[in-house]
Parts: sequence; structure tokens; C-alpha cells
Amino acid sequence: MPASCVRLRCGLLLSPLLLALLFSFSLSQADPALPQPGMKTPGPQDLHYVLELATGDELPLFHVNFYFQGDADGASKLRLPSGWDTENQLYNAIRNLRATSPETKIYFYALGTALWVLPDWDRSRSVNVQLQWKNLPSDWMLCNSFGANEASQSFQTTLEGFRKGVFLAGDFRVHGLSIRGRPVQITTRGKWRFPDTEFHSLVQKVMEAERSFWNDDDFPRYLVVLFPTDDPPGTGHGEARTDALALYFSKDVADTSAMRILLAHEMFHAWNASRLRRLEDDNTLYWFSEGFTDHYAALLLWRAKIISHSEYIDRCNDVLRRYYTSRRRNHSYARIQAERGSDNEAERQIYVRGATLALRWDALIRSETGGKHSLDDVMRDLIRAARADSFSLSKDSIDKAARRYLKEGVRQDIDLYVELGETIPFSADLLGPEAQMSMIEVSTSFDPGFDLEASFARRIFTGVRENGPAHRAGLRNGQKWVAGGMADDPNVMAEITVEDSGMRRVVKYYPASDEKVRAPQYKLKAPPENKN
Ligand SMILES: [Zn+2]
Repeated sequence: MPASCVRLRCGLLLSPLLLALLFSFSLSQADPALPQPGMKTPGPQDLHYVLELATGDELPLFHVNFYFQGDADGASKLRLPSGWDTENQLYNAIRNLRATSPETKIYFYALGTALWVLPDWDRSRSVNVQLQWKNLPSDWMLCNSFGANEASQSFQTTLEGFRKGVFLAGDFRVHGLSIRGRPVQITTRGKWRFPDTEFHSLVQKVMEAERSFWNDDDFPRYLVVLFPTDDPPGTGHGEARTDALALYFSKDVADTSAMRILLAHEMFHAWNASRLRRLEDDNTLYWFSEGFTDHYAALLLWRAKIISHSEYIDRCNDVLRRYYTSRRRNHSYARIQAERGSDNEAERQIYVRGATLALRWDALIRSETGGKHSLDDVMRDLIRAARADSFSLSKDSIDKAARRYLKEGVRQDIDLYVELGETIPFSADLLGPEAQMSMIEVSTSFDPGFDLEASFARRIFTGVRENGPAHRAGLRNGQKWVAGGMADDPNVMAEITVEDSGMRRVVKYYPASDEKVRAPQYKLKAPPENKN
């Protein structure tokens, strides 16, 4: 079954999956593809394969040349064989997959997690790594968490730091700059609808704001990757890596404004939780590392004047609305942790629970210290403490840091509002003296009216609640779920095709609970009238 050396007529978009393949099995540049005698140039519908049995190997191997017309933009996605019957990960049988078309735009982009074979050592163990990059075309940019454009690299890091590195090469554009005296590289590729300089200046402003917030420039270098995707416009995600962050955005995004929060968020992770030393795989503080990071992402953007005060307030309103209307609001932390892998709302609840608590603590500290201190002091005290060897981030270390500014500490808050899931109280001064609170009745919270997860898994409706929204629309237990579905949003109409006794029909309704929820919302107070 193993086949070897798949050749591609045109470009190739390297997914992490492909990259794992390419590099676990070593990429060879030898043996360029030649058109086969008697073979026509493939047309738009053509798939041409040439299979040549190799001799002399222990296992039978096919050299496979595959020719097809690539997409006009020079990047084509491939679908690799994954599973059949009881077999899975069939792509492991493919070796040396590479594109050999001369006009191809090729690059590689890989996360260490998907790239390296590593010894099974303690992840915090310090390692001296040597990397040698051979046969890279002279016009390729080479860039990673540990340096740029050095064919031979040696560096010291931890096993985990190496694993969490970012590695790329190819037709990337790399822009180098100095931020508070430290080198930063910003890299991207492909065509965007805005000039690269717009993104460079955003990175510069956000990084200046964050490093000055922490008063920490201890980064030998830093890499920011902006990676274009084929996702629908408006979608993007990001991740923090070793001395690097990566943003993945739809290549059709109109400008950089949609990237601001995510950029600030991923950058902030360098401190919360990396430098605050949250223990590896410790999810008990996920609310702190995500919720408090989200809180500061918006706050620091406002302080750096990248967003306005009202945009900052809008962002907080959004968090509060999501928190107070969430059907997960009163679920225990243990429960949402256990269910967050399979339910977006559980994942989201952890973020908004943390961010709402950050607002509460900030307001409490400002109020108890007469405006002299804020949550900022707790965060900076924590980072100072984290420079000591014995420190690790924990509920106790957070409580200890907060006790300097809040007599009662925050341990009880953590137990009640994070762990047990009691509703976090709010106050009129939550967003500071310039913001005025009002209460709104939020239309409703999301309620599909049946057991969404179980029904979707079996494609048969179950758990339909009598007189719930689905029941009123005609959905019944035992009906078949043929097509359609719903957004996780009470304001978006659900549209589901069901089959009952062989008859199909479409059921439409709003997946909203009858319960109205009150949530605090804030707006900027009008400036005092000028008496003259
Ligand atoms: Zn995050």
C-alpha cells in the first residue's frame, strides 16, 4: 500500500497536516518532475496519475506523479486519504509529498507541535537545538520563533518552547522593526485588501501598549505572522506561540479593524499565562488566562487610543450581555470545563465569566482604595512574584496578590462565581465614573427546546420539551433530522427539515427561551454642560 513521492502539477497549500507529512518524512528536492511522454497537459477537469513501482525496497512502493490544473491564485488544497473501514491515518503511508511545478507559489508554514519528533523528556527541560535548513531556494524567506534567514541556527530553549515554535519559509514578506529597542518581525503572504503597512503600524502600537503596561521588554526577538485563509470574510482566529503569535484571517477581510482585539489578546498571553507561569495543562485557571486576557485586550486598545472610549464600552457591553444571558451562566466550572470541547457556549462562558469577574474586581479595588489602585496593580504584582522560582499561578497566588488592595481578598469570589457558577453581581460604577449604567431586557437566551447535542448525534429528535419553542413549532421526539440546523443565537431563525412517517417538512422557529433576562449595559455619560 505505501506510495511514495506524490508530485503536483501546480501549487500546494500546506495545511498543518501536510506539513507534518512533509517534514516527518524529509523533503527532498532531487528528482524533478518531467512531463511523461505521450501525456497531454491536463485540462480543468483532468487528473493524471503515473504510478511507477520502485524496485529494491523492502516494501513495495509506488512513485506517483500526479498532474492537475491548480487554482488560478497558485494555491491548491489537497485532500489526503484519511480513513477507510477500520483503517485510519492512511496519509501516513504517503512519503515525500511535494509540488514540483516550476510556476508554483510554494511555502511552508508549520507549528512545532505538528512538525517535530521529540524525545519523551520533561517538557520544561532546557535544550540546545541546532537546525540546518538545506536547499531552500535563494528567494525564500526563512523565519521562525528562533531567528530569521539563517540556514544554520543554534539556540537554547525548553523542549516545550521548541515544540510551541512557529516555523515558516517561502514567498513571505517579512518586515523588521524595533519596538522599545527590541527586534520584531512581521510576516505575511498573499494579497490583502489593505496595505501591509496598516498591519505593521497596528502591531507596533499594540506591542508598545502591552510592553509598557507590563514594563517588560525581555524578548530577544518576536515574530508576528498574519496568515491569509479562504474562510468567509469576517472570520479569523489566532494563537500565541513561543516568542511569536499567529493570526489567521480571511483574505477578504476589508481592513485590520477586525484583527485588533485578537492581536491584543494573543500578545497578552505572553504574560498571562506564560510569564505568570500557569502550570502546563492546568485548566483550573483557564477562566483567568482567557477572561482576564480578553479584558485587558480591550482595555489596552482603548488606553492606546486604538479604539475609542465608546468602542471599549460597547465591547464590555457585549461581554456582559453574553454573560448574563448565557444558559451556562449558573453551571459549575467543572461542568463547563468538561463540556467545553463539545459546546461553544461552554467555551464562551469561561471567557465571559472571567472577563466579567475582571470588571468586578477592578471596580471593587478602585472603590476600596479611593481610586488609587486598580486591577492593574494586582496583575503587575503577580508578574513580579512570578519572577521568583517558587511561584506558580494559582487561586491562592491570585488571592494573595489581590489582598493587598481588597481586605477580603478574592478567594470567595473565585469559589462562588467561578467554581459554583453563582451569578456575578454588578454595580453602577463597573466601567468607571464616566460610564452610566442602565438595565435592559435582553430579548431572550438561546434555547433550542430539545436536546440539541443528543439529537444531532443521532439525527433523531429527542428531549423535545412540551410547550418549548421547538414543540410549539411542531417538532416532536422521534422525528428524523434530515437537514438544516440553527445558529447558537436566539435571534436567528432555526430552519430544520424533519421527516415524520415518511413525510418531510420544514420547521422554522426562533430558538429562544421565554424567559427575559435583565443585563446591565453602559454608555458614556454626556459631558457636563458648559455654563458659559
Ligand atoms: Zn486566548
